[in-house]
Amino acid sequence: MVKKITKGSRKNNEKLLMIAGPCSVENYEVMDKTVSFLKNLGVEYIRGGAFKPRTSPYSFQGLGMEGVEILKDMKTKYGVKIVSEVLDIRDLEEMINSVDVIQVGSRNMYNYPLLKEIGKTNKTILLKRGISATIEEWLNAAEYIALEGNDDIILCERGIRTFENYTRNTLDLNAVPVVKERTSLRIIVDPSHGTGRRELVYPMSLASIAAGADGLLIEVHPEPENALSDGFQSVNFEEFELIYKRANETFKCV
Ligand code: PEP
Ligand code: MN
Repeated sequence: MVKKITKGSRKNNEKLLMIAGPCSVENYEVMDKTVSFLKNLGVEYIRGGAFKPRTSPYSFQGLGMEGVEILKDMKTKYGVKIVSEVLDIRDLEEMINSVDVIQVGSRNMYNYPLLKEIGKTNKTILLKRGISATIEEWLNAAEYIALEGNDDIILCERGIRTFENYTRNTLDLNAVPVVKERTSLRIIVDPSHGTGRRELVYPMSLASIAAGADGLLIEVHPEPENALSDGFQSVNFEEFELIYKRANETFKCV
């Protein structure tokens, strides 16, 4: 049963909440190039994973604390807000001191001890939907956080696992109006992980906004074909600029 997250007033956002950046923090140069471009365009929230939850233990696992230091440099240099994932409770304190929004990834949505710990912080939490989570399970995860006192939670629909394998996941846009009906929390959509295909990010971004999403999370890389993770679903700068402009126009009409 969810009780806490249904309370409080709905936040009225006049602006589209856009979170963009590479899947992983790879090195200083890629981050600097990307943040400089995004900041110029007007994007306020930058993403980048320092700790990466990779399916294969042989894949790039992220730079860890070295990546967090790069994110801190970006914050100081460009005055942007940083969104990054915490994988392990042991890193939480350092992350609280370094980033503006703490992401709980899909794989950790059911990590109740972690949810309780971040619920004790006063950070904004970006709670991604579990890979196989029902909407009810996802809302209960948010409830775990809110029960500890922190109801500054943004939900993120990032696709779920279904029998369909043409796309990496099946983006469940039903979740957007359902979450709006059930809670006072903001909900954004991640069409990058939701589709796993770069060419689908543009249409599904606009569809998300038409469905009532408060914002988007999009993976952007200067050279997606050379990205160390999720390059196949990352858009380049030119593609991102088009998405950003059209998404903002659409947002004003919904
Ligand atoms: C990510 O945002 O890079 C990520 C790993 O997402 P998810 O937890 O949705 O798979
Ligand atoms: Mn990714």
